[in-house]
Amino acid sequence: MVFGRQLGPAVLRPWKSSPNVYDIAIIGGGINGAGIARDAAGRGLSVLLAEKGDLASGTSSASTKLIHGGLRYLEHYEFRLVRESLMEREVLLRLAPHIIWPLRFVLPHHAALRPAWLVRMGLFLYDHLGGRDILPASRSINLSKAPAGKPLRSEFTRGFEYSDCWVDDARLVVLNAMDAAKRGAIIRTRTTVTSARRDAGAWIVELAQSDGTRIETVRARVLVNAAGPWVDDVLANCVKTDHGSRMRLVKGSHIVVPRLFEHDQAYIFQNADRRIIFAIPYEDQFTLIGTTDVDYTGDPGNVRITAAEIEYLCKSTSSYFRGAITPASVVWSYSGVRPLLDEGGGTAQEATRNFVLERDGEPALLNICGGKITTYRRLAEAALGKLSDILAVGTPWTATSPLPGGDFAHDGVEALVTALRRAAPAADEAMARRLARTYGTLAHNILDGAARPGDLGTHFGAGLYEGEVRHLVRNEWAQTADDILWRRTKLGLRLDKPAQERLAQWLAGNATKVAVSAH
Ligand code: FAD
Repeated sequence: MVFGRQLGPAVLRPWKSSPNVYDIAIIGGGINGAGIARDAAGRGLSVLLAEKGDLASGTSSASTKLIHGGLRYLEHYEFRLVRESLMEREVLLRLAPHIIWPLRFVLPHHAALRPAWLVRMGLFLYDHLGGRDILPASRSINLSKAPAGKPLRSEFTRGFEYSDCWVDDARLVVLNAMDAAKRGAIIRTRTTVTSARRDAGAWIVELAQSDGTRIETVRARVLVNAAGPWVDDVLANCVKTDHGSRMRLVKGSHIVVPRLFEHDQAYIFQNADRRIIFAIPYEDQFTLIGTTDVDYTGDPGNVRITAAEIEYLCKSTSSYFRGAITPASVVWSYSGVRPLLDEGGGTAQEATRNFVLERDGEPALLNICGGKITTYRRLAEAALGKLSDILAVGTPWTATSPLPGGDFAHDGVEALVTALRRAAPAADEAMARRLARTYGTLAHNILDGAARPGDLGTHFGAGLYEGEVRHLVRNEWAQTADDILWRRTKLGLRLDKPAQERLAQWLAGNATKVAVSAH
């Protein structure tokens, strides 16, 4: 599927003279590829991004979904990483206040683990290392009295509170891709880069469908390898270099259980193995628990949670909550592979979350190694900075330009919900809130002033109507039921199997027609 213009802005440069020649070809539609595509397109460069599956189908939909400094990275003396990440929290919150919001964390004091003075010192640094205008400072709390203490075992009487942000990770990827396309980038999903070779000063890049059928050959001045956990695979099998391994692959899994507590704060629990586990309010009716850290050597596309990981997560959280969490209560789980920089040693949780941009050869290849969702925008800026001697990269611009649907105040969701209901009486409170949190101001386009639910077309269940599905196919590259149920939304948690099947059948009959009619 192709969205966006075929060429970048009309600048008289030889590279723009042929429809399949680009300034930058990007391999990978995760957060880093999409972020670089957006930044580059906004600077007037012509960009092609190829993603072999759906956008965010790799690691970028499998994170803990935090825009965070990373309190525990302080223990590994990663002060620069923590500072940059902390500063990025409020920048991103202002760019996408629909899918990013402040989240308060409760850290129960555990007498046998880190001493209170150490935690207090860490939180002091956390409060003061990076920019913080919106998010409140940390403080001590009395868990015997505070509502957050209620679901916890009675031995946890003291604790601490601090702030970070929550993000819908998969939607952050899609919003970056949408904005990139709006600015002229070509975004191709279900398109694998099968080979990339240097020829006469340019990269010759072969694109194929997932079944191997060749689609097209394009030329590019720069190749960006943003394949996440597949970075080494792309080097070995597409570029065919003998670079050796760059990445340390570390699997992380999460479980989702029915809601364990009523309030809207999250918990950060210390574990006896020095790891930490989060328990986070999720999709109104659920609690998200994660994560594990296990070195991984298989195909990142086949990563799955094991019974041992489920057991570990249940056991760790059960030692804090009054009620036991058992594998039987798990309603959903997901796993992802962290593409971390291989520093050759240490435990998986000690491996740095910092990124390195490795530029190689002529024409240039840029390998994106490591990183976090939190730092993707800074990573994109740094990537373009690395190419400033080859491309007319101009100046950074993404820090203040809202992502699609994010053009409202950082605390303006309630006002948006009210405005949506006034403009489209078909939407009840719950539906307006979900659409505001998913699409921001673009929810107005989906509801289109509908007076009655019937005006929104077929109802698939859980407030998912044809109008929203059409929007996702037309504007967000959704093709399959999974794209919609697990990445563009998380309605897979609420729609039963027959309803999911009805959606799949509708897409099989209509998706191509809807997509084509949009162009
Ligand atoms: P990916 O998202 O994996 O994207 C790479 C893409 O390349 C894939 O979609 C893949 O299909 C595509 N691709 C591969 N080969 C080809 C090819 N030949 N042709 C075309 N396409 C190809 N970060 C945070 O900031 N906060 C968190 O709370 C957080 N929690 C995490 C928890 C876990 C369990 C994990 C695993 C990670 C977490 N992270 C977190 C880190 C963050 O998720 C990753 O750093 C980030 O998603 C990596 O993005 P990426 O774009 O590099 O890789």
